[in-house]
Amino acid sequence: MSKPYKLRLITLIVLLLIAIFCFTASLNEDRKGILTVAFLDVGQGDSIFIESPSGNQMLIDGGPGKAVLRELSKVMPFYDRSIDVVLATHADQDHIGGLLDVLNKYKTDIFIESGVPSESSTYRELEKIIEKQEKNLKKILARRGMVIDLGGGTILEILFPDRDPTGMETNSASVVTKLVYGENEFLLTGDSPSSIENYLVSVESQGVTLGLESDVLKAGHHGSKTSSSESFVAAVSPEYVVISAGKDNRYNHPNQEVLDILNNFGADILRTDEQGRIIFKSDGLNLSQETAK
Ligand SMILES: [Zn+2]
Repeated sequence: MSKPYKLRLITLIVLLLIAIFCFTASLNEDRKGILTVAFLDVGQGDSIFIESPSGNQMLIDGGPGKAVLRELSKVMPFYDRSIDVVLATHADQDHIGGLLDVLNKYKTDIFIESGVPSESSTYRELEKIIEKQEKNLKKILARRGMVIDLGGGTILEILFPDRDPTGMETNSASVVTKLVYGENEFLLTGDSPSSIENYLVSVESQGVTLGLESDVLKAGHHGSKTSSSESFVAAVSPEYVVISAGKDNRYNHPNQEVLDILNNFGADILRTDEQGRIIFKSDGLNLSQETAK
């Protein structure tokens, strides 16, 4: 066999292998109408990964540091280097600390935030990355009434802020969202305090939007007693409550009074500090849940 011929043959085999690999990869990517919502195990902080049935991906918060990258590698294929939308509920370190690494590793099209600044160096660096034109990242300020269509019948509705939150305390200005896929709904609250929860209850009672009722509630502020007021939990009426907190964290989150309130409502309480990553799958009708250490 002449040398050039052998070389061509090897090239062909390699190309064929790559083609087979890509074909298998795209088969694995078939989501069969399933929405995935994963509450990542990032320690004391929040990070929620969403993948719609059409494959669009979104990350809400990035936890305090690099742990988010390890967690994302568990819920995304290794060759996937893009996350369509990233949302920061507010600019506190335990929510945006890992986002610099996320934006550096994954190509992102849209960045959503409340617009309330923080003095932290992470926030300043994050804003610098977002403003950089070469990243082609579109910044959107979250306001009530906005709906993000994630494809495949999944939408994310923004419930708060309903105003320009400039001057508000960062937790209070947390972006509160409701993720809806068919019959299944998730209420995601960042570190929103009881005063905002109760405000949302009063607004929702006027029946303007989809309402607060949801299958899954991510308890505000890591289960701290400053959130999860009784009237709010009653209005949401969740089957599952997820608490995202670090093991043996110095804030003693979650608070026992909050756990009592949630237990009284009969909600199934799932905690990242005890169970690790918490994953929900929905076909639009039924919700299943799994945990992975
Ligand atoms: Zn927090």
